[in-house]
Amino acid sequence: MKAEILAVGTELLMGHTVNTNAAEIARMLAEIGVGVYYQTVVGDNPERLEGAVRTAVDRAELVVACGGLGPTEDDLTRETVASVLGLELERNEHWVRRLMQFFERRGRVPTENNFRQAMVPVGAELLENEHGTAPGIYLTHRGVTVVLLPGPPHEMRALMQDQVLPRLSAALEGAAGTAVLVSRVLRVVGLGESRISELLEPILSTQSNPTIAPLAKSAEVHLRITSRAHTRTAAERLNERCAQQIYEQLGAAVYGEDEVTLEEAVGRLLRHRRLKLATAESCTGGLIGHRVTNVAGSSEYYLGGVVAYSNALKTDELSVDPALIEEHGAVSEAVARAMAVGVRQRTGAGIGLSVTGIAGPGGGSEEKPVGLTYIAIASATQVQCVRREFWGGREQVKLRAAQAALEFLRRALLEPGSA
Ligand code: AMP
Ligand code: MG
Repeated sequence: MKAEILAVGTELLMGHTVNTNAAEIARMLAEIGVGVYYQTVVGDNPERLEGAVRTAVDRAELVVACGGLGPTEDDLTRETVASVLGLELERNEHWVRRLMQFFERRGRVPTENNFRQAMVPVGAELLENEHGTAPGIYLTHRGVTVVLLPGPPHEMRALMQDQVLPRLSAALEGAAGTAVLVSRVLRVVGLGESRISELLEPILSTQSNPTIAPLAKSAEVHLRITSRAHTRTAAERLNERCAQQIYEQLGAAVYGEDEVTLEEAVGRLLRHRRLKLATAESCTGGLIGHRVTNVAGSSEYYLGGVVAYSNALKTDELSVDPALIEEHGAVSEAVARAMAVGVRQRTGAGIGLSVTGIAGPGGGSEEKPVGLTYIAIASATQVQCVRREFWGGREQVKLRAAQAALEFLRRALLEPGSA
C-alpha cells in the first residue's frame, strides 16, 4: 500500500512548528508494513490545499492528512477533501451532542463555527477524539483510503494508535503481498560513520532485507536495521541474524540497543560491579553529572561531583597540588590524574572520573590546541588517562568530551580488574 502524508498548516511551511507528525505517522505506518512514498506540507490556503489533496489522492492508495480540522476560517481540510472527492458533508448528531457537552462543562457557548467540527463527508466514519473537539475522519472512496487527523501531536497520536492503525491493519490483512516492517537500532560509540561503513562493508553491500541505515548522532552512530517479512516474528529473526553479524564486526563499540543511552549503559555496569562513581569536571561544567543523573535510580551508584573550573577549586576541593598546575598547566595529564584521584578520595567513591580540557574558542596554543582534553579514571588499583583532541565549537567540544569520558569509563568497567 502506497501512502502519502499531507501535513496542513502555514506554521509548518514557515518552520515555526516542526512537522513532527509526519515523522511519527510514517514510523507508525512502517510498523504495519505501509510504505510512505510522499510527504507533503501545504499551508492554510484553499487553492494550494486543493491542489495538494488532488495530487495525493491521485498518486497514493492511502492519504493521511493532519491539521486544519479546527473551528476557525483557516481550517479547511475537511471541506477541501470533501470537495475534491465530490462528497457532501453531513452533520454528525452524535458529535454535535459531544460538542455541546464539551462547552457546557466549561460554561461556554459554542458558536456556529464550532459545529463545523461535526461535519463529516457522507459515507465516512467519524473517529472519536477523547482529547479535543476535532474528531478524526476515515473514509475509502474509489480505492483510496483517506484519513483526516487533528494537528496537535497528542491528539493525532491517540487517534492513529487507537483507531486508524487497527482499521488499516484489518484492511491489509489477507491482502496479497502484505508485510510488516520491524526495526532495531544498535548504538555505536567511539567509531565514526565512515569507519563503521568500512568495517561493515561486506554486510552493507550485500544487504537488501534487512536494510541497514547508519544515522550519525551527536558523538555516536545509530545503525537502524529494518526487516520486511510476513510476520513480526519472522522480521525479528532477520533482524537478529543481521545484528549478530554487526556485533561480530564492531564488538564492544555497540554500547546498547534501541532507547538505551550511553549513561544508562554505564549505570548498568556500575550497578553490576557494585561501584560508586564520583566526577571531577572542569571544561564539561557538570555535563557528565547531568547525564549520569538523567537515569532514574542513578543514586544507587553516583555519589556526586565537583565542577572544579578554577585552579583554586581544583586545589581546594580536589587536593590537586598547585605545583602540578604550575608546572604542567590545568589542562594536562598530570592534573587530570590528580583530579580523578582527588575526587575519589574526597568522596570515598570506588571510581573517580575527571575531565580537563580547552573548550575554546579562545585559550588554545600550538602545544595545547582548542579541543585538547584529558580524561582520567582513578580506581582502587590504578589511574588511567587518555588525551583527546575534539573539534567544533565550544558546546560541541563539551558534548564530545562528556561523551568520550562516559565511553572511557564504560570501557574501563567492561574490563575485569581494571576498575
Ligand atoms: P490544527 O489542527 O491545524 O489546528 O493544528 C493545531 C496545532 O497542532 C498547531 O498549532 C500545531 O502546534 C500543531 N500541529 C499541527 N500540525 C502539526 C504537525 N504536522 N506536526 C506537529 N505539530 C503540528
Ligand atoms: Mg492549523
